Amino acid sequence: MSVLDVAVVGAGPVGLTAALALARRGVAVTVFEEAGRLSTEWRASTFHPPTLEIACDLGIADAMLAEGIIARTYQIRDRRDGLIAEFDFGLLADETDYPFRLQLEQYKYSQIISDALDGRHPEVGLRLGEGITGVTQHADAAVLTTVAGEQVEARWVLAADGARSTLRKALGTTFEGLTYDHRYLVLSIDYPVETLLPGICDVNYIADPSEHLLILRVPDVWRIVVAVRPELGAEEALADRYVAERLRGLFGDHPELPLRERKIYSVHQRVAGNFRTDRVLLLGDAAHVNSPMGGMGLNGGIHDAFDLSVQLGKVLLDGAGDEVLDAWAQRRRKAAIEAVQEITHRTTTEMAEQDEAERRGFRRRMSQIAADPALAKEWMLDAAMISNVRAHGLPRRDSEVG
Ligand SMILES: Cc1cc2nc3c(=O)[nH]c(=O)nc-3n(C[C@H](O)[C@H](O)[C@H](O)COP(=O)(O)OP(=O)(O)OC[C@H]3O[C@@H](n4cnc5c(N)ncnc54)[C@H](O)[C@@H]3O)c2cc1C
Repeated sequence: MSVLDVAVVGAGPVGLTAALALARRGVAVTVFEEAGRLSTEWRASTFHPPTLEIACDLGIADAMLAEGIIARTYQIRDRRDGLIAEFDFGLLADETDYPFRLQLEQYKYSQIISDALDGRHPEVGLRLGEGITGVTQHADAAVLTTVAGEQVEARWVLAADGARSTLRKALGTTFEGLTYDHRYLVLSIDYPVETLLPGICDVNYIADPSEHLLILRVPDVWRIVVAVRPELGAEEALADRYVAERLRGLFGDHPELPLRERKIYSVHQRVAGNFRTDRVLLLGDAAHVNSPMGGMGLNGGIHDAFDLSVQLGKVLLDGAGDEVLDAWAQRRRKAAIEAVQEITHRTTTEMAEQDEAERRGFRRRMSQIAADPALAKEWMLDAAMISNVRAHGLPRRDSEVG
């Protein structure tokens, strides 16, 4: 049996990023994907500045910018009291070449990578419809079993097989954390919502004690991500009547709001006990999941993939020892816990706060931060994930400022 250098399990956005980043360094990669085609689920829609720097490094930033929407501001609102604070990404102009959030659906990002691989990187093999059912390891390789029963050996396996990761479970790695009581109902509306809610911008976080929400513009539609009370079942929340009530509550008696999508998601904050077990490395949602408040989950996964491609390049091409992979695993786990989990949990809690005194305190704090340019910049460095990548040593990107 021939031994692959690198096998990636999962052709989601994180697995595909890893494949492209490794291929550009000259490493051969085989990607195993259980589905027969790339996912067209929308899910993530926000790309932060460090992720765009990575995209520039990978040669796909122009394609992303051409397809996405540049959001230059974002707002924090209260459903009852209106605007609390508006932040301008222009404050970050001396920190990054991309002082904005790019709004672009996750499946379009995957398609852009697939196009970048197509024909130009014969060293990447994409095996669609070939799920992996298990993994064992010996001293020289990890052995994957495909759904058809084939055994495939690889020197390194990148488990990018999503939140329910088969590989993480096969390794017996813990995935501790919490599941929130509420779920999120995601509605995509093909209508100029900005004409119904004057004053909103492209990204709006809206606090409310019973139904906090996020209103976002993406290239094709407006998306509403609204909290569903814990006692409601998924079927009930997806029913026409419930959806119509939510839309009426937000936009009044508007006759026609064409819905392009309605989905419901549970919300978790969880991190794998370790990101490396010998020759298997966990990344993306297989390693960490978090609330979508803050738009950081996929971004963090792309950072995992980029950093790992640099470290694996050192091991496979430059003869470095595998301690660089241990350092990667520790660094990325720390970044997930200390930055992404921390910020997304805080944002979710603040948006959902029920205590009136706490709600008032939050409004006061946010107004003060927004009014002080130095504090606002510090806030934006966190929200845009720039402090995160600086604190956790993401390898240098070509377009990085400074
Ligand atoms: C409503 C919502 C909004 C979100 N918004 C944002 C946002 O704005 N910004 C952000 O950064 N993140 C956001 N996220 C999170 C983001 O969607 C995920 O972090 C992202 O999908 C993770 O990508 P991944 O490639 O790690 O995993 P996935 O996208 O889950 O991909 C895993 C892939 O592995 C395949 N697979 C699974 N098991 C196997 C197997 N055994 N063998 C082979 N293949 C397998 C799957 O078919 C899939 O293709 C959001 C999530 C939700 C639900």
